[in-house]
Amino acid sequence: MNSIAILCSGGDVSGMNPAIKHFVEYALAKDLKPYLIYDGYDGLIDGDIHEAYFSSVSGIINRGGTILRSKRSSRFLDPSYRAKAKANLAKLGIDKLVVLGGDGSFRGMSAFCAEHNISFCGVPSTIDNDIVGTEYSLGVDTALNVIRSAIDNIRDTASSFSRAFVIETMGRDCGYLALISALTSGAELCLIPEVEYDLIHYKQKFAQELKNGRRYFIAVVSEGIKDSSQSIAKWFEDEVGIEARVTTLGHTQRGGSPTTYDRLMAYRFVTHAIDALLSKDGANSVICYNSGGFNYKDIETIAKSKFELSSELLGYLRYV
Ligand code: ADP
Repeated sequence: MNSIAILCSGGDVSGMNPAIKHFVEYALAKDLKPYLIYDGYDGLIDGDIHEAYFSSVSGIINRGGTILRSKRSSRFLDPSYRAKAKANLAKLGIDKLVVLGGDGSFRGMSAFCAEHNISFCGVPSTIDNDIVGTEYSLGVDTALNVIRSAIDNIRDTASSFSRAFVIETMGRDCGYLALISALTSGAELCLIPEVEYDLIHYKQKFAQELKNGRRYFIAVVSEGIKDSSQSIAKWFEDEVGIEARVTTLGHTQRGGSPTTYDRLMAYRFVTHAIDALLSKDGANSVICYNSGGFNYKDIETIAKSKFELSSELLGYLRYV
């Protein structure tokens, strides 16, 4: 019986647990012996690798985070530790790996596989949705729903108390979460790192709206913009003339029960990842989702360029 293992590396996302559950079930259906690796690449180095059964993954489909835990590993950058990882896999006869992670994790895995005759398939997993080559990464929909729910709640209090709320989303240098959240929450202002802005353009418009009876503002800003959220709130108070508060959503965006969409995408990504490893067609690749279908891309394609928001989405910003 061939053996196959799964691990999570880099930032955790909601959707990893459904992916792990389906990994075990689909591997067993394909007559593979499934293994779970804990603590990312560190678990690979330390041999924290365990055979999995149906019972290992029961009751996890609705849970956020990952039962395998996720980690960054500085040791994995060192080839001597990667040799140790290979020895641990060889002992168990594992030569196929499914990796849930981001492009950094895939780059590391690619180096490992090239050295040690192992095959991997990566499942793009990040709430930032900033992996080149795939329109969707696992965890994005759950994060967007957490943000939507938070903004809906904030709107209740903002409208009752006549305030401006500056809501800060995650995303590093990618404004995807902020932009989609602004569009779907009816925000009055959306600031993202990809687009230059000058608050002066908004001052007159917002002041006029206040005169016309507007009672509150919702501003969604991405963590990577040039100004701090506090300074945007101060601008509302000093320049627009409305009391303002900041809500930083922070790590709440990483948690929560995976949405139906993320559970389904976990199922589909993992099915394609295992199929790729069995057929060898897609071995040492990342399974990407584009235009409603799945395709395999090599790590060079994924890592060579910087992610860019589509011009279609960016075009909507002017109507926020
Ligand atoms: P993400 O997968 O979310 O992009 P990171 O960029 O932090 O996360 O990468 C996760 C892990 O992948 C790192 O902690 C390291 O163990 C491994 N890794 C990244 N790049 C390399 C590399 N060039 N060689 C070996 N391992 C790497």
